[in-house]
Amino acid sequence: MLNQFLPNQHVKSIFEITPEKLKENGIKGIITDLDNTLVEWDRPNATPKLINWFEAMQKANIAITIVSNNNKDRVQAFSDPLKIPFIFQARKPMGRAFRKAIKDMGLKKEETVVIGDQLLTDVFGGNRSGFHTILVVPVASTDGFWTRFNRLIERRMLDWFRKKGKLVWEDK
Ligand SMILES: [Mg+2]
Repeated sequence: MLNQFLPNQHVKSIFEITPEKLKENGIKGIITDLDNTLVEWDRPNATPKLINWFEAMQKANIAITIVSNNNKDRVQAFSDPLKIPFIFQARKPMGRAFRKAIKDMGLKKEETVVIGDQLLTDVFGGNRSGFHTILVVPVASTDGFWTRFNRLIERRMLDWFRKKGKLVWEDK
C-alpha cells in the first residue's frame, strides 16, 4: 500500500530532468506541479532559468501541462506569460486532471511523466493513474498550512522508504 507513494525517480531539482533523458525513455510529455516544484509557492512568476528549461523542452517537442491544486488566479498568472497550458484546482491525487492533461496533449500515459514535490498529491496521484512519477526536492523550505501538515506525514514515509532501501537518491 505504501508503495503507491513511492516515486519512480527522485531528483534534487527540475533542472536535472532534461529532454535528452526523457526522450531516451520514450517520454513525449510532462505533467508538472507548480508550487515548490517549478518555483517557490510564494513566487508569482517563472525565473529566467526556468524559462530556459521550458524552451528547451519545447524545442525538443516535449509537451508540458501545469497541473496544480492551487486556485485559478495563481496558476493562470504564472502559466499565461509562458504560454503553457494549465489545469487549476486539479484535486490531485484524483486522476481526472491527469486524464484531461494527456487528452489535451494527445499523449498516452506511458509517454508522460508526472513531476511534483509532494508524495500525497503528486506522486500518489501519478502512481495510481499509472504514470512514471518523479519527485523533486521542494524549492522552498516554507509552506502554506495544509502543505506543512502533509509534509509531516510525508517525512515519515520518506524515512521509511530510505530505511527499506526503496528510495535511492540520485546524488552526483
Ligand atoms: Mg507542490
